[in-house]
Amino acid sequence: APVPPPAAHHFSDPAEVEALRRNLLAWYDRCQRDLPWRALAATEPDADRRGYAVWVSEIMLQQTQVATVIDYYNRWMQKWPTLQALAQASLEEVNELWAGLGYYSRGKRLQEAARKVVSELAGHMPRTAEDLQKLLPGVGRYTAGAIASIAYGQATGVVDGNVIRVLCRLRCIGADSSSPAVIDRLWDMANTLVDRSRPGDFNQALMELGATVCVPKAPLCGECPVKQHCQARRRKLFGKPTPVPDVEDCGVGDCPLCLPATEPWDSSLGVTNFPRKSAKKQPRAMRTATCVLERKGSCGGLEYLIVQRPSSGLLAGLWEFPSLPLAQDLQEKERELLADHFQGWIGQPVAAKGLRFIGEVTHIFSHIHQTYVVYSLPMDGDVTLAPASSPSRWVTEEEFHASAVSTAMKKVLE
Ligand code: SF4
Repeated sequence: APVPPPAAHHFSDPAEVEALRRNLLAWYDRCQRDLPWRALAATEPDADRRGYAVWVSEIMLQQTQVATVIDYYNRWMQKWPTLQALAQASLEEVNELWAGLGYYSRGKRLQEAARKVVSELAGHMPRTAEDLQKLLPGVGRYTAGAIASIAYGQATGVVDGNVIRVLCRLRCIGADSSSPAVIDRLWDMANTLVDRSRPGDFNQALMELGATVCVPKAPLCGECPVKQHCQARRRKLFGKPTPVPDVEDCGVGDCPLCLPATEPWDSSLGVTNFPRKSAKKQPRAMRTATCVLERKGSCGGLEYLIVQRPSSGLLAGLWEFPSLPLAQDLQEKERELLADHFQGWIGQPVAAKGLRFIGEVTHIFSHIHQTYVVYSLPMDGDVTLAPASSPSRWVTEEEFHASAVSTAMKKVLE
């Protein structure tokens, strides 16, 4: 069984919890950013639509900046204002709207889950975090907690990257913040702290604090509404661990939540000693040959051949220039391999020397450092596509940008 955390790393005084809630909510009422999903969650009387609106925003916000999401969110809600509308959309339409937002499986899973709500749950969103997580594909513990608290007023906490940072600083948690033991403690703490009468606002306030005040590199402690509850700040100001009334040896013994003895407090870092993370895994390097085939279109402008990726895996269902992942030891032959590969689409032999090397484009996906080796191949006359295993089509530049293509492919065309 996990060791219970020393009390120093938790909130055990009810009066302090009350004060922290009050201070944080007062600040949120004054300073919250004006965001379209907040307005919808606060004013939409229909509970299913409210849950849907929060759900879409939470999925879009995963791994993506608020400023980027706003425009996508507005367009999405305009096109599919209800679960029922989304359930009727095609994956192609979803990918087109999602193009450029990254992590494409999010849009696909959102649409699959909407279909499930319509067909299996009579169009009604589950109302509790437990049911949301159990019944909706793609909805994890965080998203379930966010929807349940913001849309349905359930007093349940949330833990995302911002909350991890704030809580680790508030309670000087210096153990690896991605370890299951620490994550469990943070969920306990979030559930203890969440305001019982305004849970959705409280959770959003805690996340907002992490996004705007308690930021990773230079937190604005002087303006922080919960600074009087912050042990990291106290430690920075007074240069010693917080006195711990009931666990005497916390910080000098083998406390599982303190900074590790091997990497102790560094006074030059101040509060940013917290949180600590284990080193990130290096992204995997991949090399892919890709070729922009171009022909003269009927209106005189250029047209490009794009093909559709498989419906599962990375960038599922998106369109791209014909591409071929390269094994590291085959780089010298990439031109020949690429020429062979094209025959499958255009149904006629392609001379490797006709492929013109343009340059390289790098793009970082979540876990892959991808290098595209870009070639171009102008085609003469009327090129007819051979029936190939995946769908393909010719598009103008304008049609290309309106298609479901990744940001990486836009870089390739550029
Ligand atoms: Fe974060 Fe500083 Fe506020 Fe502590 S006082 S919660 S470190 S911004």
